[in-house]
Amino acid sequence: MSPADLPALTVADLQALLRRREISPREVIERLRSRIEEIDPKIDAYLSLDFEAALKEADKANLDLPLGGVPIAIKDIINVAAQPCTCGSKILANYRAMYDATVIRSLRAAGAIPFGKTNMDEFAMGSSTENSSIKPTRNPWDLSRVPGGSSGGSAAAVAADAAFGALGTDTGGSIRQPAAVSGVVGVKPSYGRVSRYGVTAFASSLDQVGPLAKTVQDAALIMGAIAGHDPQDSTSLNEPVPDYAALLNGDLAMGRVRSDGGLHGVRLGLPKEYMVQGIDPQVKSAIDTAIKQLQSLGADVIDLSLPHTEYGIAVYYFVATAEASANLARFDGVRYGYRAENPLDILDHYGRTRGDGFGPEVKRRIILGTYVLSSGYYDAYYLRAQKVRELIRQDFAKAFEKVDAIVSPTSPVPAFKLGERLADPLQMYLADIFTTPGNLAGICGISVPCGFAQIDSVQLPIGLQLLGKALDEARIFQIAHAYEQSTEWHKAKPQF
Ligand code: GLN
Repeated sequence: MSPADLPALTVADLQALLRRREISPREVIERLRSRIEEIDPKIDAYLSLDFEAALKEADKANLDLPLGGVPIAIKDIINVAAQPCTCGSKILANYRAMYDATVIRSLRAAGAIPFGKTNMDEFAMGSSTENSSIKPTRNPWDLSRVPGGSSGGSAAAVAADAAFGALGTDTGGSIRQPAAVSGVVGVKPSYGRVSRYGVTAFASSLDQVGPLAKTVQDAALIMGAIAGHDPQDSTSLNEPVPDYAALLNGDLAMGRVRSDGGLHGVRLGLPKEYMVQGIDPQVKSAIDTAIKQLQSLGADVIDLSLPHTEYGIAVYYFVATAEASANLARFDGVRYGYRAENPLDILDHYGRTRGDGFGPEVKRRIILGTYVLSSGYYDAYYLRAQKVRELIRQDFAKAFEKVDAIVSPTSPVPAFKLGERLADPLQMYLADIFTTPGNLAGICGISVPCGFAQIDSVQLPIGLQLLGKALDEARIFQIAHAYEQSTEWHKAKPQF
């Protein structure tokens, strides 16, 4: 392997080299740094990098730990002590984190090295990373297209071999959708599986941190490090964490996935509502082919119905904006962050600080969220949305009585052009039509590469989504791994 090829390694292969002492953690950081310096000016995946701190960590890395010496990129909404944490917003442009989020402490405890913060839609609101108030990120498969969002920086960095693996956050699809359109693996853990302590809140009842990676195995390795109970997050679940990576080829207690890589006895549900109009024909055909592949591995595919699917986006935008309007009240220019100069009085201070500090999408959501929570509209919108949210949750609960996992496209369309959907927020919101119901129900989901759409002579990645019941990450990892290992899609690399 030539030195330049090192950044293309998976986390698992990098670890093997590190453990055999064929490369030092310091060299890994240096090689990654050269790759980022070469590639990032084209894709703009990173907002900040600190190789000096990373090299110090590298020199004391314990290679026996599960992620010993492995650099991991971090979405800029997760606090890493002493590093900037902008959330993609002007209002936090000069903010530096005072402490490590629990997921960062967990990554460090597993030996990983956070070295850089990735671009994102402002406060994770968006599906294209164009809502970043700092800069847009570009899709490595076609630089005129978006990498998805809001974790678009993490997705693009992993896709371009400018990161071995990354953390993102998913409130309505922000890990799975960018993973799908950038051609990498992305996991949204079940609600409560991963701590949110130290992660800037967007919609607290929906947000989860999860991995973006080159393979299902890498995602399982990272997930194993970050999952688990955190007494500092009262919504964190106190449940044992399986060894996801070790279970990939093993038999689960229910004995469905077999160690021969086959899926005999696995029951997969295909919701009729998820193959509706609006889905790109090339996406549909890739999903049809993926389903045949899953069947050829032995899975039974069962048609089912999730009847409240059509309300998913509407309910999500009521719940998410309501919670966001409350969470973002803390950015008032008093305690930290951007502050407008020379205010006339306190209202002028708040008005101009928040008016100048927040971008248009964030303001739109604060206004919508405040509206649905206001007396007189609360019952009609917010309360109604909560009731429908429960119906969506029950749809999934009923489905999981019959099936082990649900299959669908991750995104209805491949990556769109920069600027194409900016003028039409509703079109942008529809990018998450298949992902938001999973957040509303609190279940887990993964997106794996399953093909390409050919548009204007470029190849654009397509993602297959597998949804599993709450805390059933091990099973969706197994199914996704069996699928991935029987296909070549994850091996394709964008050409620059
Ligand atoms: N695109 C969705 C939104 O704009 C989801 C974002 C997310 O998951 N953070 O809210």
